[in-house]
Amino acid sequence: MRKPKIRELKEAITSLFSKPYTTKFPYSVHVPFERFRGKPQYNFEKCVGCGACAIVCPAGAIKIEDLIDGNKPIRRLTHFSGICIFCGQCEANCIADRMGIKLTKEFDLAYFKQGEDAHSVEYELLLCKCCGRIIGAKKHLIWSIKKIGHLSFAQGILLHINQDILEIKSLIPEQKVDTPLKRTDIFKIICPQCRREAFLIDENIKG
Ligand code: SF4
Ligand code: SF4
Repeated sequence: MRKPKIRELKEAITSLFSKPYTTKFPYSVHVPFERFRGKPQYNFEKCVGCGACAIVCPAGAIKIEDLIDGNKPIRRLTHFSGICIFCGQCEANCIADRMGIKLTKEFDLAYFKQGEDAHSVEYELLLCKCCGRIIGAKKHLIWSIKKIGHLSFAQGILLHINQDILEIKSLIPEQKVDTPLKRTDIFKIICPQCRREAFLIDENIKG
């Protein structure tokens, strides 16, 4: 029989007296290491509903739904941990200072029923009062106002939202905008396409 080498003997004796590297999970609580990438979790307070995380997700683990049929149009973002590969791209590309969605240390993600792996956040959507197109999540537009500051007073939709924030009642009623559009309609809640139409009609470029 081959005799064990000194190094192997040393390792065998050391391992007899050292703690095992593995943990006794699930019998004892496992504490993940500092930079462990576990289940991403939305933070409703910080997320602005822009949808960038859904666009960059390589696994398609984030579903973005714009629900415009009800009384209050909403954008719903749903994360499915059953599909997620925990790459961290959603957090890395989050426009809200990487705080809208964050990877947690949660790793025990077994579920009994389909759909239990999902969690979602919802935000109010703003629709064009002329054509009904989606303009964006209201919270995202408020985030834009904070980014561009006083310049936001020069843009119709942002001006409206500014009035909301300052609790100033708008002189322009928030009702459906009639066609043909007029130049003054640019101060109403209309999408960029309709704003362009309003300019073209007013300049007699388009009838
Ligand atoms: S961690 Fe990666 S796979 Fe999971 S939701 Fe974020 S971007 Fe998608
Ligand atoms: S703010 Fe961040 S978490 Fe929220 S939708 Fe945008 S990218 Fe996703």
